[in-house]
Amino acid sequence: MVEKLQKIWVDGKLVAWDEADVHILTHSLHYGLAVFEGIRAYKRADGKSYVFRLKEHIDRLFDGCKMTMLKCEFSKEQVMAACTQVLRENKLEEGYIRPLVFVGDGAMGVYAPNNPVRTAIMVWKWGAYLGEEALKAGIRAKISSYARHHINVSLAKGKITGQYTNSVLAKREAKLAGYDEAIMLDTQGYVSEGTGENIFIVKNGVVLTPDFASSILGGITRDTAITLAREEGIPVQECRITRDMLWLADEAFFTGTAAEITPIREVDNRAIGEGKPGPITERIQKRFFDVVRGTDSSHPEWLTRV
Ligand code: PMP
Repeated sequence: MVEKLQKIWVDGKLVAWDEADVHILTHSLHYGLAVFEGIRAYKRADGKSYVFRLKEHIDRLFDGCKMTMLKCEFSKEQVMAACTQVLRENKLEEGYIRPLVFVGDGAMGVYAPNNPVRTAIMVWKWGAYLGEEALKAGIRAKISSYARHHINVSLAKGKITGQYTNSVLAKREAKLAGYDEAIMLDTQGYVSEGTGENIFIVKNGVVLTPDFASSILGGITRDTAITLAREEGIPVQECRITRDMLWLADEAFFTGTAAEITPIREVDNRAIGEGKPGPITERIQKRFFDVVRGTDSSHPEWLTRV
């Protein structure tokens, strides 16, 4: 359960948590066209709170709006300022920020070009998405029977609400089968990503991840992991990955704003490497947590003071 906080930002105004309602005829609720983001704020070792890679998240939100032709009434700068404002109003030093641009009520039917485009920003407390233990010991994943959307069916580079039925179904299938997370293949059969995470494998000292021009979401944590790995002198290649490459990997891990850097210790009942987080995964994970919440100040451009 999300713990109730004080305020939610709705169309430029701060509204009491319980009053942030929409009408049941809200277009996005029926047809799934809305664009959202998931962003984290961390309290760093200096005792201050920072939003991690806020600009990149808001750029992606607006890219989603561009692709879906939703005209957000607010500028990127206004949305960014509102994100930090909502954190402050709720006295949240660490947590998750969810901007949402959606189509309001008015006309029904899929077209409805004149319905208002509305914007809301909410924040909540969110610990480790897959659990604290998952960050330390790794998780068990299953290749899903659901494929990741084909690039000509959906907009892989957008966080578009309706597209997430695919993730919800895959996640439920995996959980009901006793696994922690699902891994989706693309429609050609290559490894794509998790339900809310990008995927990486390590083989013979090289980090591999599906390339950007595939069906993956352009994950901001993915980009962070690639940058940090290269800074550590670890080679990274973006390429196609097959199911058997995944099973035979020395290490594997997920990246995501919610999942952060979560090792994968088993896929389809095959241990990955030694069945525990590997040394390269641990190095990248350590660097990540040092950057987001520790004392590593090598990327000030990634931090926005709350
Ligand atoms: N893939 C999907 C489908 C996602 O929903 C997410 C979470 N936004 C990711 C990957 C990871 O992206 P990011 O690192 O930007 O959170």
